[in-house]
Formats: sequence, C-alpha cells, structure tokens
Amino acid sequence: AAKGAGKNCVVAYEPRMRADRLNLTRLAAGLRHAIGRRELALHYQPVVELASGAVIGVEALLRWTPETGAVPPTTFIPIAEETGLIVPIGTWVLQQACRDAVSWHRYHDTVLTVNVSARQLREPDFPQTVLDTLRDSGLPPSALILEITETALLAVGAVETRRVIARLEELRRHGIRIAVDDFGTGYSSLSYLRHLPVDILKIDRAFTPDSDGDSAENAAFTRAILQLGRTLDLNTIAEGVETAGQARLLQEMECQLAQGYHFARPMPATALAQLLAGSPAGTSPGSAHPPTVG
Ligand code: C2E
Ligand code: MG
Ligand code: MG
Ligand code: MG
Repeated sequence: AAKGAGKNCVVAYEPRMRADRLNLTRLAAGLRHAIGRRELALHYQPVVELASGAVIGVEALLRWTPETGAVPPTTFIPIAEETGLIVPIGTWVLQQACRDAVSWHRYHDTVLTVNVSARQLREPDFPQTVLDTLRDSGLPPSALILEITETALLAVGAVETRRVIARLEELRRHGIRIAVDDFGTGYSSLSYLRHLPVDILKIDRAFTPDSDGDSAENAAFTRAILQLGRTLDLNTIAEGVETAGQARLLQEMECQLAQGYHFARPMPATALAQLLAGSPAGTSPGSAHPPTVG
C-alpha cells in the first residue's frame, strides 16, 4: 500500500516539477540579459546604532525586475549561483554600490556592506576585482564590508577553503572587513570561526527575539552569539528587527547594531540619500563620532 501511495505521489508531482524546471530555465535565460537590459537595481537598507538610531551603514540588496515582473532574490540568486552568472552580476553589484556609497560615506560616514557568493570567492581574481572597483569609485577600503553567509564559507570545500581564506586575508590587509551573514544557521564551530578572517557577525533574523517572551530560546541564542562576538572581539549586527520591543530587548542585551523593517526597509539610492540628508540621527551631535563597525 505504501508503495502504491508513493507512486501516486510521484505521478501527482511530476507535472509541477516539470513546470518548475521550465520556469527555472526561462529565468536563467532571462537573467543572462539582465545587466544588458538594465533590469538590475540596488536597494539599500540602513544599519543603525540601537542606542542613538544613527545610520552607520547600508546593505546593498539586489533587485531584478524583468518585463514579466519582479523576481525575488531568494529565487534568482540561487539561479545566478548555479549558472555562474553571479560572477558578472556580482561585479556589477560591487561597481554600482561603491559608486552610490562614495558620497554617503564622504558626507555621512556610512559604511557599505555588499553580499558576496561563494562562487565569486572561488575566482582567483576576486580580490583584484574588489580593489579595482574601490579605486575606480573612490570609496576607501575601510568603508567596505563584504558579507558572506556562514553556509557559503563552509561549503567551498577543503582545498578551496584555504584559497578562499587567503583571498579574504588579502582583502583584509587592505582594510576591507568581512562579515559572516545569517550567522547561527550554519554549523561553524567556535574553533573554526576563530580561524576565519572575520570581523563581524550578523545574527540571522531567525534568532532575533520577540519582546513578548514567547521565544526564550531565541533570546538565549542571541545572547550566546553576542557573548561569542565579545569573546572573539567581533562586532555583531542583529538582522530582521521588526518591532520596538525587539529593538529594546536587543539593547538590553548590549547588542549595538541592528537592521530591520522597524528602522527602515530596503530603498532605492535616491530615497536613502534623502534619508541620510534629512535624518536627525545622521547629523546629531550623538553621531559626530559614529560608532565604527569593526
Ligand atoms: P541577506 O543578505 O541576509 O539580506 C537580508 C534580507 O532580509 C533582505 O532580503 C532584506 O530585505 C530582508 N529584511 C531586512 N529587514 C527585514 C525585517 O525586518 N524582516 C524581514 N522579514 N526581512 C527583512 P532580500 O533583499 O530579499 O534578499 C534576500 C537574500 O538574497 C539576502 O539575504 C542575500 O543572501 C541575497 N542577496 C541579495 N542581494 C544580493 C547580492 O547582491 N549578491 C548576493 N550574492 N546575494 C544577494
Ligand atoms: Mg546580507
Ligand atoms: Mg542575512
Ligand atoms: Mg539571508
């Protein structure tokens, strides 16, 4: 009977799977032309200091809007990674983000964080690409943070890991900082983390605690990660803060930096520029000496 049910399942799922695969192929084909057709854009989400609300940085988040309508990053980034298109797309992201961020950094001292895929780190000339982009844009290396997910760092493979670490170390020698994105969702051990060239931990939003106390476990996790950050002398940024209660709780835990809809959603460059120019936080005496990330 179980076998029969299994068979039925396969039959029921087949058309859907075929449709999904067809859809993936279509998306991959579309993505190939995304840069040329100017379908890519960057949105920027503020990173704020919890105590003052000052915007101390921005994360560049890629948007793809083909004629058929916006495709979310969680759909197209994996396709870009599988097809290798993330390499040219990632270079475009770096160039565009550095160009946008140069005046924000000059006038508001904001740092820029850019997401980088494991596939990009496997390119031997990745460090040179980053350094060339910085030079061309005029953004100083100290204003750039590269975000790499914990799982990406672990997934590059043993031999490759050594090369990837060497590349990250080269970038760090120039003053660029490295953040581990979505920290807590992977399996990195304490000792492993200690040997990675890393400056910042970004606590995945899955662990951001609620204020209503129904997530004691999340709160304990966040506390543990914050403690880990202090032990390893790393800065920590809490992701996905959606309520004032969450922000308060994180402050009580002595978390200093956060990101989330509660403060601001990702927005186009023009809107971010307006926010920085008009934001009392960006110009208050409290932010005359903005806290440094790292
Ligand atoms: P991420 O780097 O962890 O970025 C944070 C994601 O959380 C963003 O989703 C952001 O819009 C969302 N977010 C921010 N605050 C909140 C909040 O308060 N609540 C909730 N529910 N979500 C929040 P987005 O923009 O859809 O990007 C998804 C992922 O796609 C990113 O996760 C990153 O891994 C990847 N990605 C985005 N842009 C790039 C890129 O240029 N290159 C690469 N390699 N990956 C990218
Ligand atoms: Mg990120
Ligand atoms: Mg993240
Ligand atoms: Mg994420």
